[in-house]
Parts: sequence; C-alpha cells; structure tokens
Amino acid sequence: MVRVLLLAPPGAGKGTQGSLLSDRFGIPHLATGDLFRHHIAEATPVGVEAKAYVDAGKLVPDDLVTDLVISSIDTDPPLEEYILDGFPRTLAQARVAYEWARSTGRTFTAVIMLEVPVGELVSRLVERGHESGRSDDSIDVIHHRLGVYATHTAPLIEFYDARGILHRVDGTGSIDAVAQRINHELTQPGFEDSMRRR
Ligand code: ADP
Repeated sequence: MVRVLLLAPPGAGKGTQGSLLSDRFGIPHLATGDLFRHHIAEATPVGVEAKAYVDAGKLVPDDLVTDLVISSIDTDPPLEEYILDGFPRTLAQARVAYEWARSTGRTFTAVIMLEVPVGELVSRLVERGHESGRSDDSIDVIHHRLGVYATHTAPLIEFYDARGILHRVDGTGSIDAVAQRINHELTQPGFEDSMRRR
C-alpha cells in the first residue's frame, strides 16, 4: 500500500514530485492547494470561504480543510492509496487525520520531507510567480507562507519522526535527481517495515 504524504515548505517541489509519484504508482495525487484553487475558480461554497485565506497565504481553517480532504479520500469506494500534498499542515490537522486514518486502518505508510535552503525556496517561488501568476506568489505573501510553515507545519516533522515513518530527502538539484532520491527512500527496507507496522 502506498499512502504517502509530501511534507515541505512552499517552493520545495511537493506538486512536481507528487505528480511524478502519482504517475509512478498509478494512484491519485491529492494536493490541497490545487483543490482550493479549483474550488475558488468555480466559486463553490468551499472556494468562497477559502479565497481570502489562500490569497493572503494564510492557513485555511482546520475544519474546512480536514472535511475537504477526508471527503476526497472517503469516497465510494474509499481511496486505499494516494499521494497527499499539503495536508496535514498543522498539528491539529495531523491529529484529526491520524485518528480518522487509524479508525479506518489507513494511516500514512511514509512521509517524505523535502529539504531545500530558504534562499532557494524564495527564488523558486518568485520565478514561479512570474510564470504562473499565482495570486499568492508575490514576495510579501511568499515570506508570510514561509513563516506559516516554520510556525505551524514544521512541528509535524517530529510528529511523524516519532512514528518512524519520516524520510528526509534533499530537495535540491534537478527534478529527476530529487525523484530518484524519493524513489530510493520508498524502496528501502524501512519503507516495507513501516507499511507492515501501520
Ligand atoms: P504552497 O505549499 O506553495 O504554499 P499550496 O498550493 O500547497 O502551496 O497551498 C496554497 C494555499 O492553500 C496555502 O497557502 C493555504 O492558504 C491553503 N492550504 C493548502 N493546504 C492547506 C492546509 N492543509 N491547511 C490550511 N490551508 C491550506
């Protein structure tokens, strides 16, 4: 079973590596940022509620994001395997997700943490902002999102490390080089062990 969380700051390459993993395993890639951008573009009730937070680089309230992710996984039939990118991002989300996943026997099999120096994150995001025109890729909002990551999301590293499923991966270099490092982590004996332990 492959239920992998990509845990990394903005600009580290979660989206790129998430879609490569999704192709490699032939399983869905759920990216909460993409889900929100889709809801915002369609002006759904979720999108209307999330828009101001996403535009400002603030975290969308835990309940809204947790319900959205769980309803995307708990479909009929439920998704057994997936690559998740962007959730959980707070300890509160992680605790709710863990309780829910445990009660349904579907906890994460591995957490891949991509490590990239902060200076490189900023330059990648500024570059992406020029190309994509994403509303939250302006310099002020970029700095705010990096601060939000450090305060709210970085504590999850310890949460997953304590459960023995955290894999630290160097996120610098080419897309291929990073993908190879991730594949290496996911084929190590430790990955099989963590899958059996879950
Ligand atoms: P990045 O990692 O580059 O910030 P994402 O596309 O993952 O980009 O997320 C964009 C925005 O979507 C976040 O800044 C936040 O507003 C919202 N968002 C995504 N995931 C979550 C989450 N788990 N909890 C709260 N807000 C979220």
